[in-house]
Amino acid sequence: MLDKKLFSNTSHASVYDYEFQKHLKSAPWQEWLGKSGYFEVKEEYLTKIHNWILSTKRNTVKGLERFKHRDLIHGTTQSFDEAYFRYKDRQLRIFRGEYAYHKRVNKNFKWLDDENGNLLEINDNDWIILSLPFCGNGDVHKHMGDIFEVCQQKNIPLLLDCAWFGTCENIPIDVYHPAITEVSFSLSKGIGLGNVRSGIRYSNYDDDGSPIRQQNNYNHLPLASAQIGIWQMEKFGPDYLFDKYENIRDYVCHINGIHTTNCIHIGLLPKHHAEYESYLVNNLYSKVGIRQALKDKGSRMLSSVTNNIKQGKTVADDPIFCLAPFTSVYYKASQKIASFCCVQEERQKIQTGETLSDWWVSDHSKNMRKDFLNGKWPSACSYCENKESAGHRSDRYDFRKFSKAIKSVSIDKGNEIEKPLYVDYRPDNLCNLMCTMCSPSNSNLVEKLWKQFPDLFPKKEETISETRNVEHDLIMDNAVINKNTIQLKVLGGEPTINSRVHDVFRYCIENGYDKNIDLKMTTNFTNINSTYELIDSFKSIKVNASLDGTGPTYEYIRRPAHWYKVKENIIDYFKRYENKKEKYGFSTNVVFQLANAFTMKDWIPELFELYYETGKNIISGKINFLNCTFPIGTQLSALPDKMKDPIVKDIEFLLEQFKGKDDQTHNLKQLLSYVQNSQFTERDLVAYQKRFKAMDQYKKTDITSLHPAFEELMNYEVK
Ligand code: SF4
Repeated sequence: MLDKKLFSNTSHASVYDYEFQKHLKSAPWQEWLGKSGYFEVKEEYLTKIHNWILSTKRNTVKGLERFKHRDLIHGTTQSFDEAYFRYKDRQLRIFRGEYAYHKRVNKNFKWLDDENGNLLEINDNDWIILSLPFCGNGDVHKHMGDIFEVCQQKNIPLLLDCAWFGTCENIPIDVYHPAITEVSFSLSKGIGLGNVRSGIRYSNYDDDGSPIRQQNNYNHLPLASAQIGIWQMEKFGPDYLFDKYENIRDYVCHINGIHTTNCIHIGLLPKHHAEYESYLVNNLYSKVGIRQALKDKGSRMLSSVTNNIKQGKTVADDPIFCLAPFTSVYYKASQKIASFCCVQEERQKIQTGETLSDWWVSDHSKNMRKDFLNGKWPSACSYCENKESAGHRSDRYDFRKFSKAIKSVSIDKGNEIEKPLYVDYRPDNLCNLMCTMCSPSNSNLVEKLWKQFPDLFPKKEETISETRNVEHDLIMDNAVINKNTIQLKVLGGEPTINSRVHDVFRYCIENGYDKNIDLKMTTNFTNINSTYELIDSFKSIKVNASLDGTGPTYEYIRRPAHWYKVKENIIDYFKRYENKKEKYGFSTNVVFQLANAFTMKDWIPELFELYYETGKNIISGKINFLNCTFPIGTQLSALPDKMKDPIVKDIEFLLEQFKGKDDQTHNLKQLLSYVQNSQFTERDLVAYQKRFKAMDQYKKTDITSLHPAFEELMNYEVK
């Protein structure tokens, strides 16, 4: 359904650009009124508008010099009014779709064409008004040439109305034909002067006592309007609207199945369009007024993101606008916490009796959308905002692709489907590992560690395991996953061992939603079990392996996993699916942190070989190295500057080793920038010493056996 507020079937007004009003406000009234004979600008106006018309680069204009007289008028309407008077004894003929004013003023008008668009007979006593561009379809009327010939043969007057000049492109305005008795232009449509009308009429009428020539001879003219017209013409050319709105016009028309025309503010519906009938004008043209859609903030945001993607531009070129609040939900079932993405702050707790649908339309959700439509960062998005200010790509990049899946965005409902299309589902913290950089909310084993060492994590962490037994998942109960869902992402804990994840997969399959869903699952690959049989029927499957090293480094960080087993499982996955790349994908996240920084020469080559060589037929993209940001004590900021030197040297060595391999060197350069940009703080050093001692005690590991630098760091004292 076309939104009638954006796509009008009753109004086909031109685009009013805010810049028009802004420039009007700066008009030098004092200066104008300070002159004696102020507003005496008739000749200046006529010269200006004539040259302004000829200055178009998007259209061609020829033959205006054929007319003896150039008269200043109150917009094209004044030329019509005079022509009604001049030709009152003749029969007015217009085409279907023509400017409706003629019909309203001349009740006895007659059509020039039938309902199929065929030309009807023209009589000697007729006269004709024809718009160019033609108001019915924003193009040259298909019978214009025929009409000119008949008018010439039968000596029939023809007024050519160029009121829509300034809104059009590719219109050949050639007025040499002798059949044309007058041509009028105005500034109302092209540069927003509908409330301060003025224009020009070209004719060969000598002063026969008719109003326009009389008024021009006696200078009884809208001279203040002319002065303002000059002011606006100096700023805005006749192609201004097309230059500014063409991209967004193409976008809104394309996604709504509307055909573009040669006029920026109207589109046409093809016969097969579901709403063809409701936009029909005079039973011939299904004409859509698209002015509001072009000005709609949401359309503007969506079209600029889409165009940037098309042109290969990065998210840094996008406006401050994220698609997540309009398309996505991130839901932590065990804690009943919802947000639009996994990095958003100020997440919302779904209260008893509330649903995710309530959250979707809550004030908090609406306010975030409103901020983005106003081009500013919501306070909850400081993570992305800070990342981008530091010159890094933020998470909003991942949501750009959803611009293709929706036609419109709205503050109240998010999008036209009124539900999220992407569900990021985190059931609970059930996990079989206790990784160094993990938190209690992501692993029940880390939760146990935290209970023994409560100071290791911020106080706000809740006890998760107790909430694991929530009765039902709101994403199933509220049909948050439904036939419109196009992406489902599951993370744990570890999803392959979680029956709640399996329940959600079954729910999708039983309801037939799986066929439409691109499934993404992040797993630690400690096992390949029946989960993989369950996900087979989804539209596509991308499995993301969490690996933070290989060999001893891996086993230290991802305790108690065994590297040889994980590697075997990954190779198994490659073998199973490598010939089905169109459906199955594989990617890897590596959290770059203190615990894997000193052993890179050991694990990077093996990881690169596994991913880029063994997995070459199934991988999607490069290895995703994430700079560790949590918890305190696990980051490189615990390293005094001089201790970073060997890490930098190792990376330089690896860069040499992988010279010529673009993906690998890209990864290594990224790691180098993480190391170089880390800022030592004593707080983080102390946190390292405390955290790793506690973790080693609990996990029965020993960081100092991984590399001697950890021993040095454990005993490091800031002087
Ligand atoms: S800007 Fe970043 S934090 Fe905000 S909703 Fe988008 S992805 Fe999430």
